[in-house]
Amino acid sequence: MKEKGILIVLSGPSGVGKGTVRKAIFSQGNTKFEYSISMTTRKPREGEVDGVDYFFKTKEEFESLIQQDKLLEYAEYVGNYYGTPVDYVRDTLDSGKDVFLEIEVQGAKQVREKFPEGLFIFLAPPSLSELESRITTRGTESDELIKNRMNEARKEIELMSLYDYVVENDQVEVACERINAIVQAEHCRYNRVAPRYIKMLEAE
Ligand code: 5GP
Repeated sequence: MKEKGILIVLSGPSGVGKGTVRKAIFSQGNTKFEYSISMTTRKPREGEVDGVDYFFKTKEEFESLIQQDKLLEYAEYVGNYYGTPVDYVRDTLDSGKDVFLEIEVQGAKQVREKFPEGLFIFLAPPSLSELESRITTRGTESDELIKNRMNEARKEIELMSLYDYVVENDQVEVACERINAIVQAEHCRYNRVAPRYIKMLEAE
């Protein structure tokens, strides 16, 4: 039996730059993981191609996929459905390749429940650490804006706890390097390599 690939989930709050980072990773050419193209009911934007950027579906088609249990996860985001086709993910992982999902946080939570052995990476906004230090610094002005931003930051920090790694998106290139390094390290994790060595010893 072939060793399974790793399910890599990149998620994070809205507007953090998940799409930009994902596109940068896959434009590098030497990427070893496969991108799972999502399904959506939102209309294609200019330049977007069906089957490349998304599989564009009608609401009825999407709801029928939900009923047939064809989605690993799905979420409603700004009035549209977004979801991950389960067959593609399972088949690709079974063939030994890593699969990369770039999805919003509700979907990532569902994947965590179904695939706890996945690799969950939270892309964090660049100003979060700065914000954190500002929040903890004495004598901060307590105006409404800071309070709102603190609340936002708190929500984002709470979301992080469901993930294995946090990558700050300060510079796209650097974020990509960190993600590639995390995936590489994950392939060396004891739990993932041990079965292979155990099998080798058994075959002796
Ligand atoms: P956009 O409409 O800008 O392409 O994507 C909107 C949001 O949907 C982004 O946060 C993106 O990460 C997320 N998204 C894209 N595909 C999926 C998916 O298959 N499932 C979920 N849950 N979110 C997705």
